[in-house]
Amino acid sequence: MKHIIFFLLTISVSHAFTLNNNFGASFKKNKVKVAIAEDSICTGITADELESLIGPAVNDFWNEVPTSRLRLKPSGFAKRIITADINTARLCSPTDSVCIADATTKGQPLLPPVDGIVISCNSTADNYSASSVIAVTVPNSFSGKKIAGAVILINDSGNFKNLSHSDRIGVIAHEIGHAIGLGHAENKEPEALMYYKTVDLRRSLGEDDIRGVTYLYPVKIDACGLMDSLVASTVVMKKDDDDEGSGGTPFWQMGIGLFFFVILSEILRLLKRREARPAF
Ligand SMILES: [Zn+2]
Repeated sequence: MKHIIFFLLTISVSHAFTLNNNFGASFKKNKVKVAIAEDSICTGITADELESLIGPAVNDFWNEVPTSRLRLKPSGFAKRIITADINTARLCSPTDSVCIADATTKGQPLLPPVDGIVISCNSTADNYSASSVIAVTVPNSFSGKKIAGAVILINDSGNFKNLSHSDRIGVIAHEIGHAIGLGHAENKEPEALMYYKTVDLRRSLGEDDIRGVTYLYPVKIDACGLMDSLVASTVVMKKDDDDEGSGGTPFWQMGIGLFFFVILSEILRLLKRREARPAF
């Protein structure tokens, strides 16, 4: 009953986006919190300045895509992790046995799985493939193809602190792209935010980024959703909470719902008129 009408927007055109982990993992929730680690310490940038980048990094980029059901929510500061110092701990995917073994050998505490997207600075060189790397992102909490949490570490010894405000936003938006499941766009898409060479220069998503996020988070419309749309448009907007589910109903979905409603009403009206006509 749930999914009588099911629109899955497939990506049929050619694309250059890749997936962060090669198996198409995406966040289980449609609404994902993005927060700065409460105890994050960065060289040359305050925690409040870092926090102020989240809003534009999600609202001017990933939350702008009408064909994606994912909505990222700036959520201030995330509670301090007790078991490891996020400024120095090692970040490994739970499935990366090489990383985990290396951290164990070196006596480096591992960052535990997080909920949502957590951002921090971190000065441990082993977390970055090269000293020039500005940031790294690893989904470190997932089950099968469903991500529950991801960590973004800004290389405290890297160039982030020297970037302009706009460029910092571009970097955070790019790393959030990794956190939600995207890899780097291939060379034929240099205008993409997820193209690794032009990360900091981007001020909006490219077409390929839009195709990528739509592939991972396609908008679904079901019969209940259409009814919700009609009810929501006439009675009250749905509560904007953080629960898993379809979230608020975009206006374009309401439009489609209204369109079907009007067509159905018109057909019923015509049928009634026909029945009411006297027989000749
Ligand atoms: Zn990247």
